[in-house]
Amino acid sequence: NRKFVLAERPEGEPTKSTLRLEAAMVPSIGDNQMLLRTEYLSLDPYMRGRMSDEPSYAAPVEIGEVMVGGTVAQVVTSNVDGFEVGDWILSFNGWQDYALSDGAGLTNLGASPAHPSWALGVLGMPGFTAWAGLTQIGVPKPGETIVVAAATGPVGATVGQIGKLLGCRVVGIAGGPEKCVYAVDELGFDDCIDHKAGDFSDRLAKASPNGIDVYFENVGGKVLDAVIPLLNSNARIPVCGLVSQYNATELPDGPDRMNWLMGQILHKKIKVQGFIIFDDFGHLYPNFAKEMGAWVESSKVKYREEIIDGLGNAPEAFIGLLNGENFGKRVIRVGNT
Ligand code: NDP
Repeated sequence: NRKFVLAERPEGEPTKSTLRLEAAMVPSIGDNQMLLRTEYLSLDPYMRGRMSDEPSYAAPVEIGEVMVGGTVAQVVTSNVDGFEVGDWILSFNGWQDYALSDGAGLTNLGASPAHPSWALGVLGMPGFTAWAGLTQIGVPKPGETIVVAAATGPVGATVGQIGKLLGCRVVGIAGGPEKCVYAVDELGFDDCIDHKAGDFSDRLAKASPNGIDVYFENVGGKVLDAVIPLLNSNARIPVCGLVSQYNATELPDGPDRMNWLMGQILHKKIKVQGFIIFDDFGHLYPNFAKEMGAWVESSKVKYREEIIDGLGNAPEAFIGLLNGENFGKRVIRVGNT
């Protein structure tokens, strides 16, 4: 039973010594318990926050504890009613091969789900984040312009595709030409701008000729800088994530533009609202599951996964995720390596 535990709290970018691989016995089940074998481990940007002990909405992983993470596992042995050997389970077992559970809080995906790992992406937490942030805070109206960065990741890709289904103009922002072509040709975005291009701000302005009504904030940094002057009166900003800042050890150098920003928010009557998906919108999960399930089934919403084999490769794959090396939802197929 392999497990990655948190070895030290990273200063800035996580390194090879942030997590440590340990071996343990495979646990045996007791009454009302089952043994789960992890098949897929989700890699998500929020994991960087859990490595840190700064005050946050969730407690940090303690040093020596198994790194947390969403998983899709299979039941190996079971003493729990409703969970049969071989069932696929959406769980939160973290970065390890095996875990015991009494079934509380888990979702049984059944004996043969069509795409078990999709429960970690478009049909699970990231898809729900996109759906709820956009519909509950962004509240886009047909004809309005939505801008979203990390446009080919599980949250951004879903935000943009829902925006199109709701009749909006959708402009994505992504790292590199290949991702941008994919966002337009495969996901149906109206445009997609490469944030690594030198004339990024100008291109974003040209792609948003009627201004921006909803900016779905995934990344912060220079993308946010380019977006703010383009916002329309009564624009909405669901603040979902700030991935460009997750490895930062200090605030960027000035000038201090906080008062300019607050002036924009005031004069343009902009609504800025942060949210933590299950804290704020957990009660809407059944509505999401029904609507998104139908959209995915009918290919109205498409999904791209990037599967990496081997639990041993998870730390490197996670470091790359924060740098935009992923193209689509990054998932580890745990296997034996
Ligand atoms: P992604 O799979 O899209 O991965 C993150 C992406 O961010 C990278 O692939 C990269 O894409 C982009 N990125 C990284 N650095 C920068 C940078 N400096 N400037 C611009 N873009 C950058 O992640 P998810 O779809 O899983 O998550 C998207 C956001 O949603 C994250 O901020 C995450 O923390 C947040 N989130 C928030 C939740 C909540 O409850 N509030 C729940 C779930 C997710 P590219 O190469 O295209 O730039």
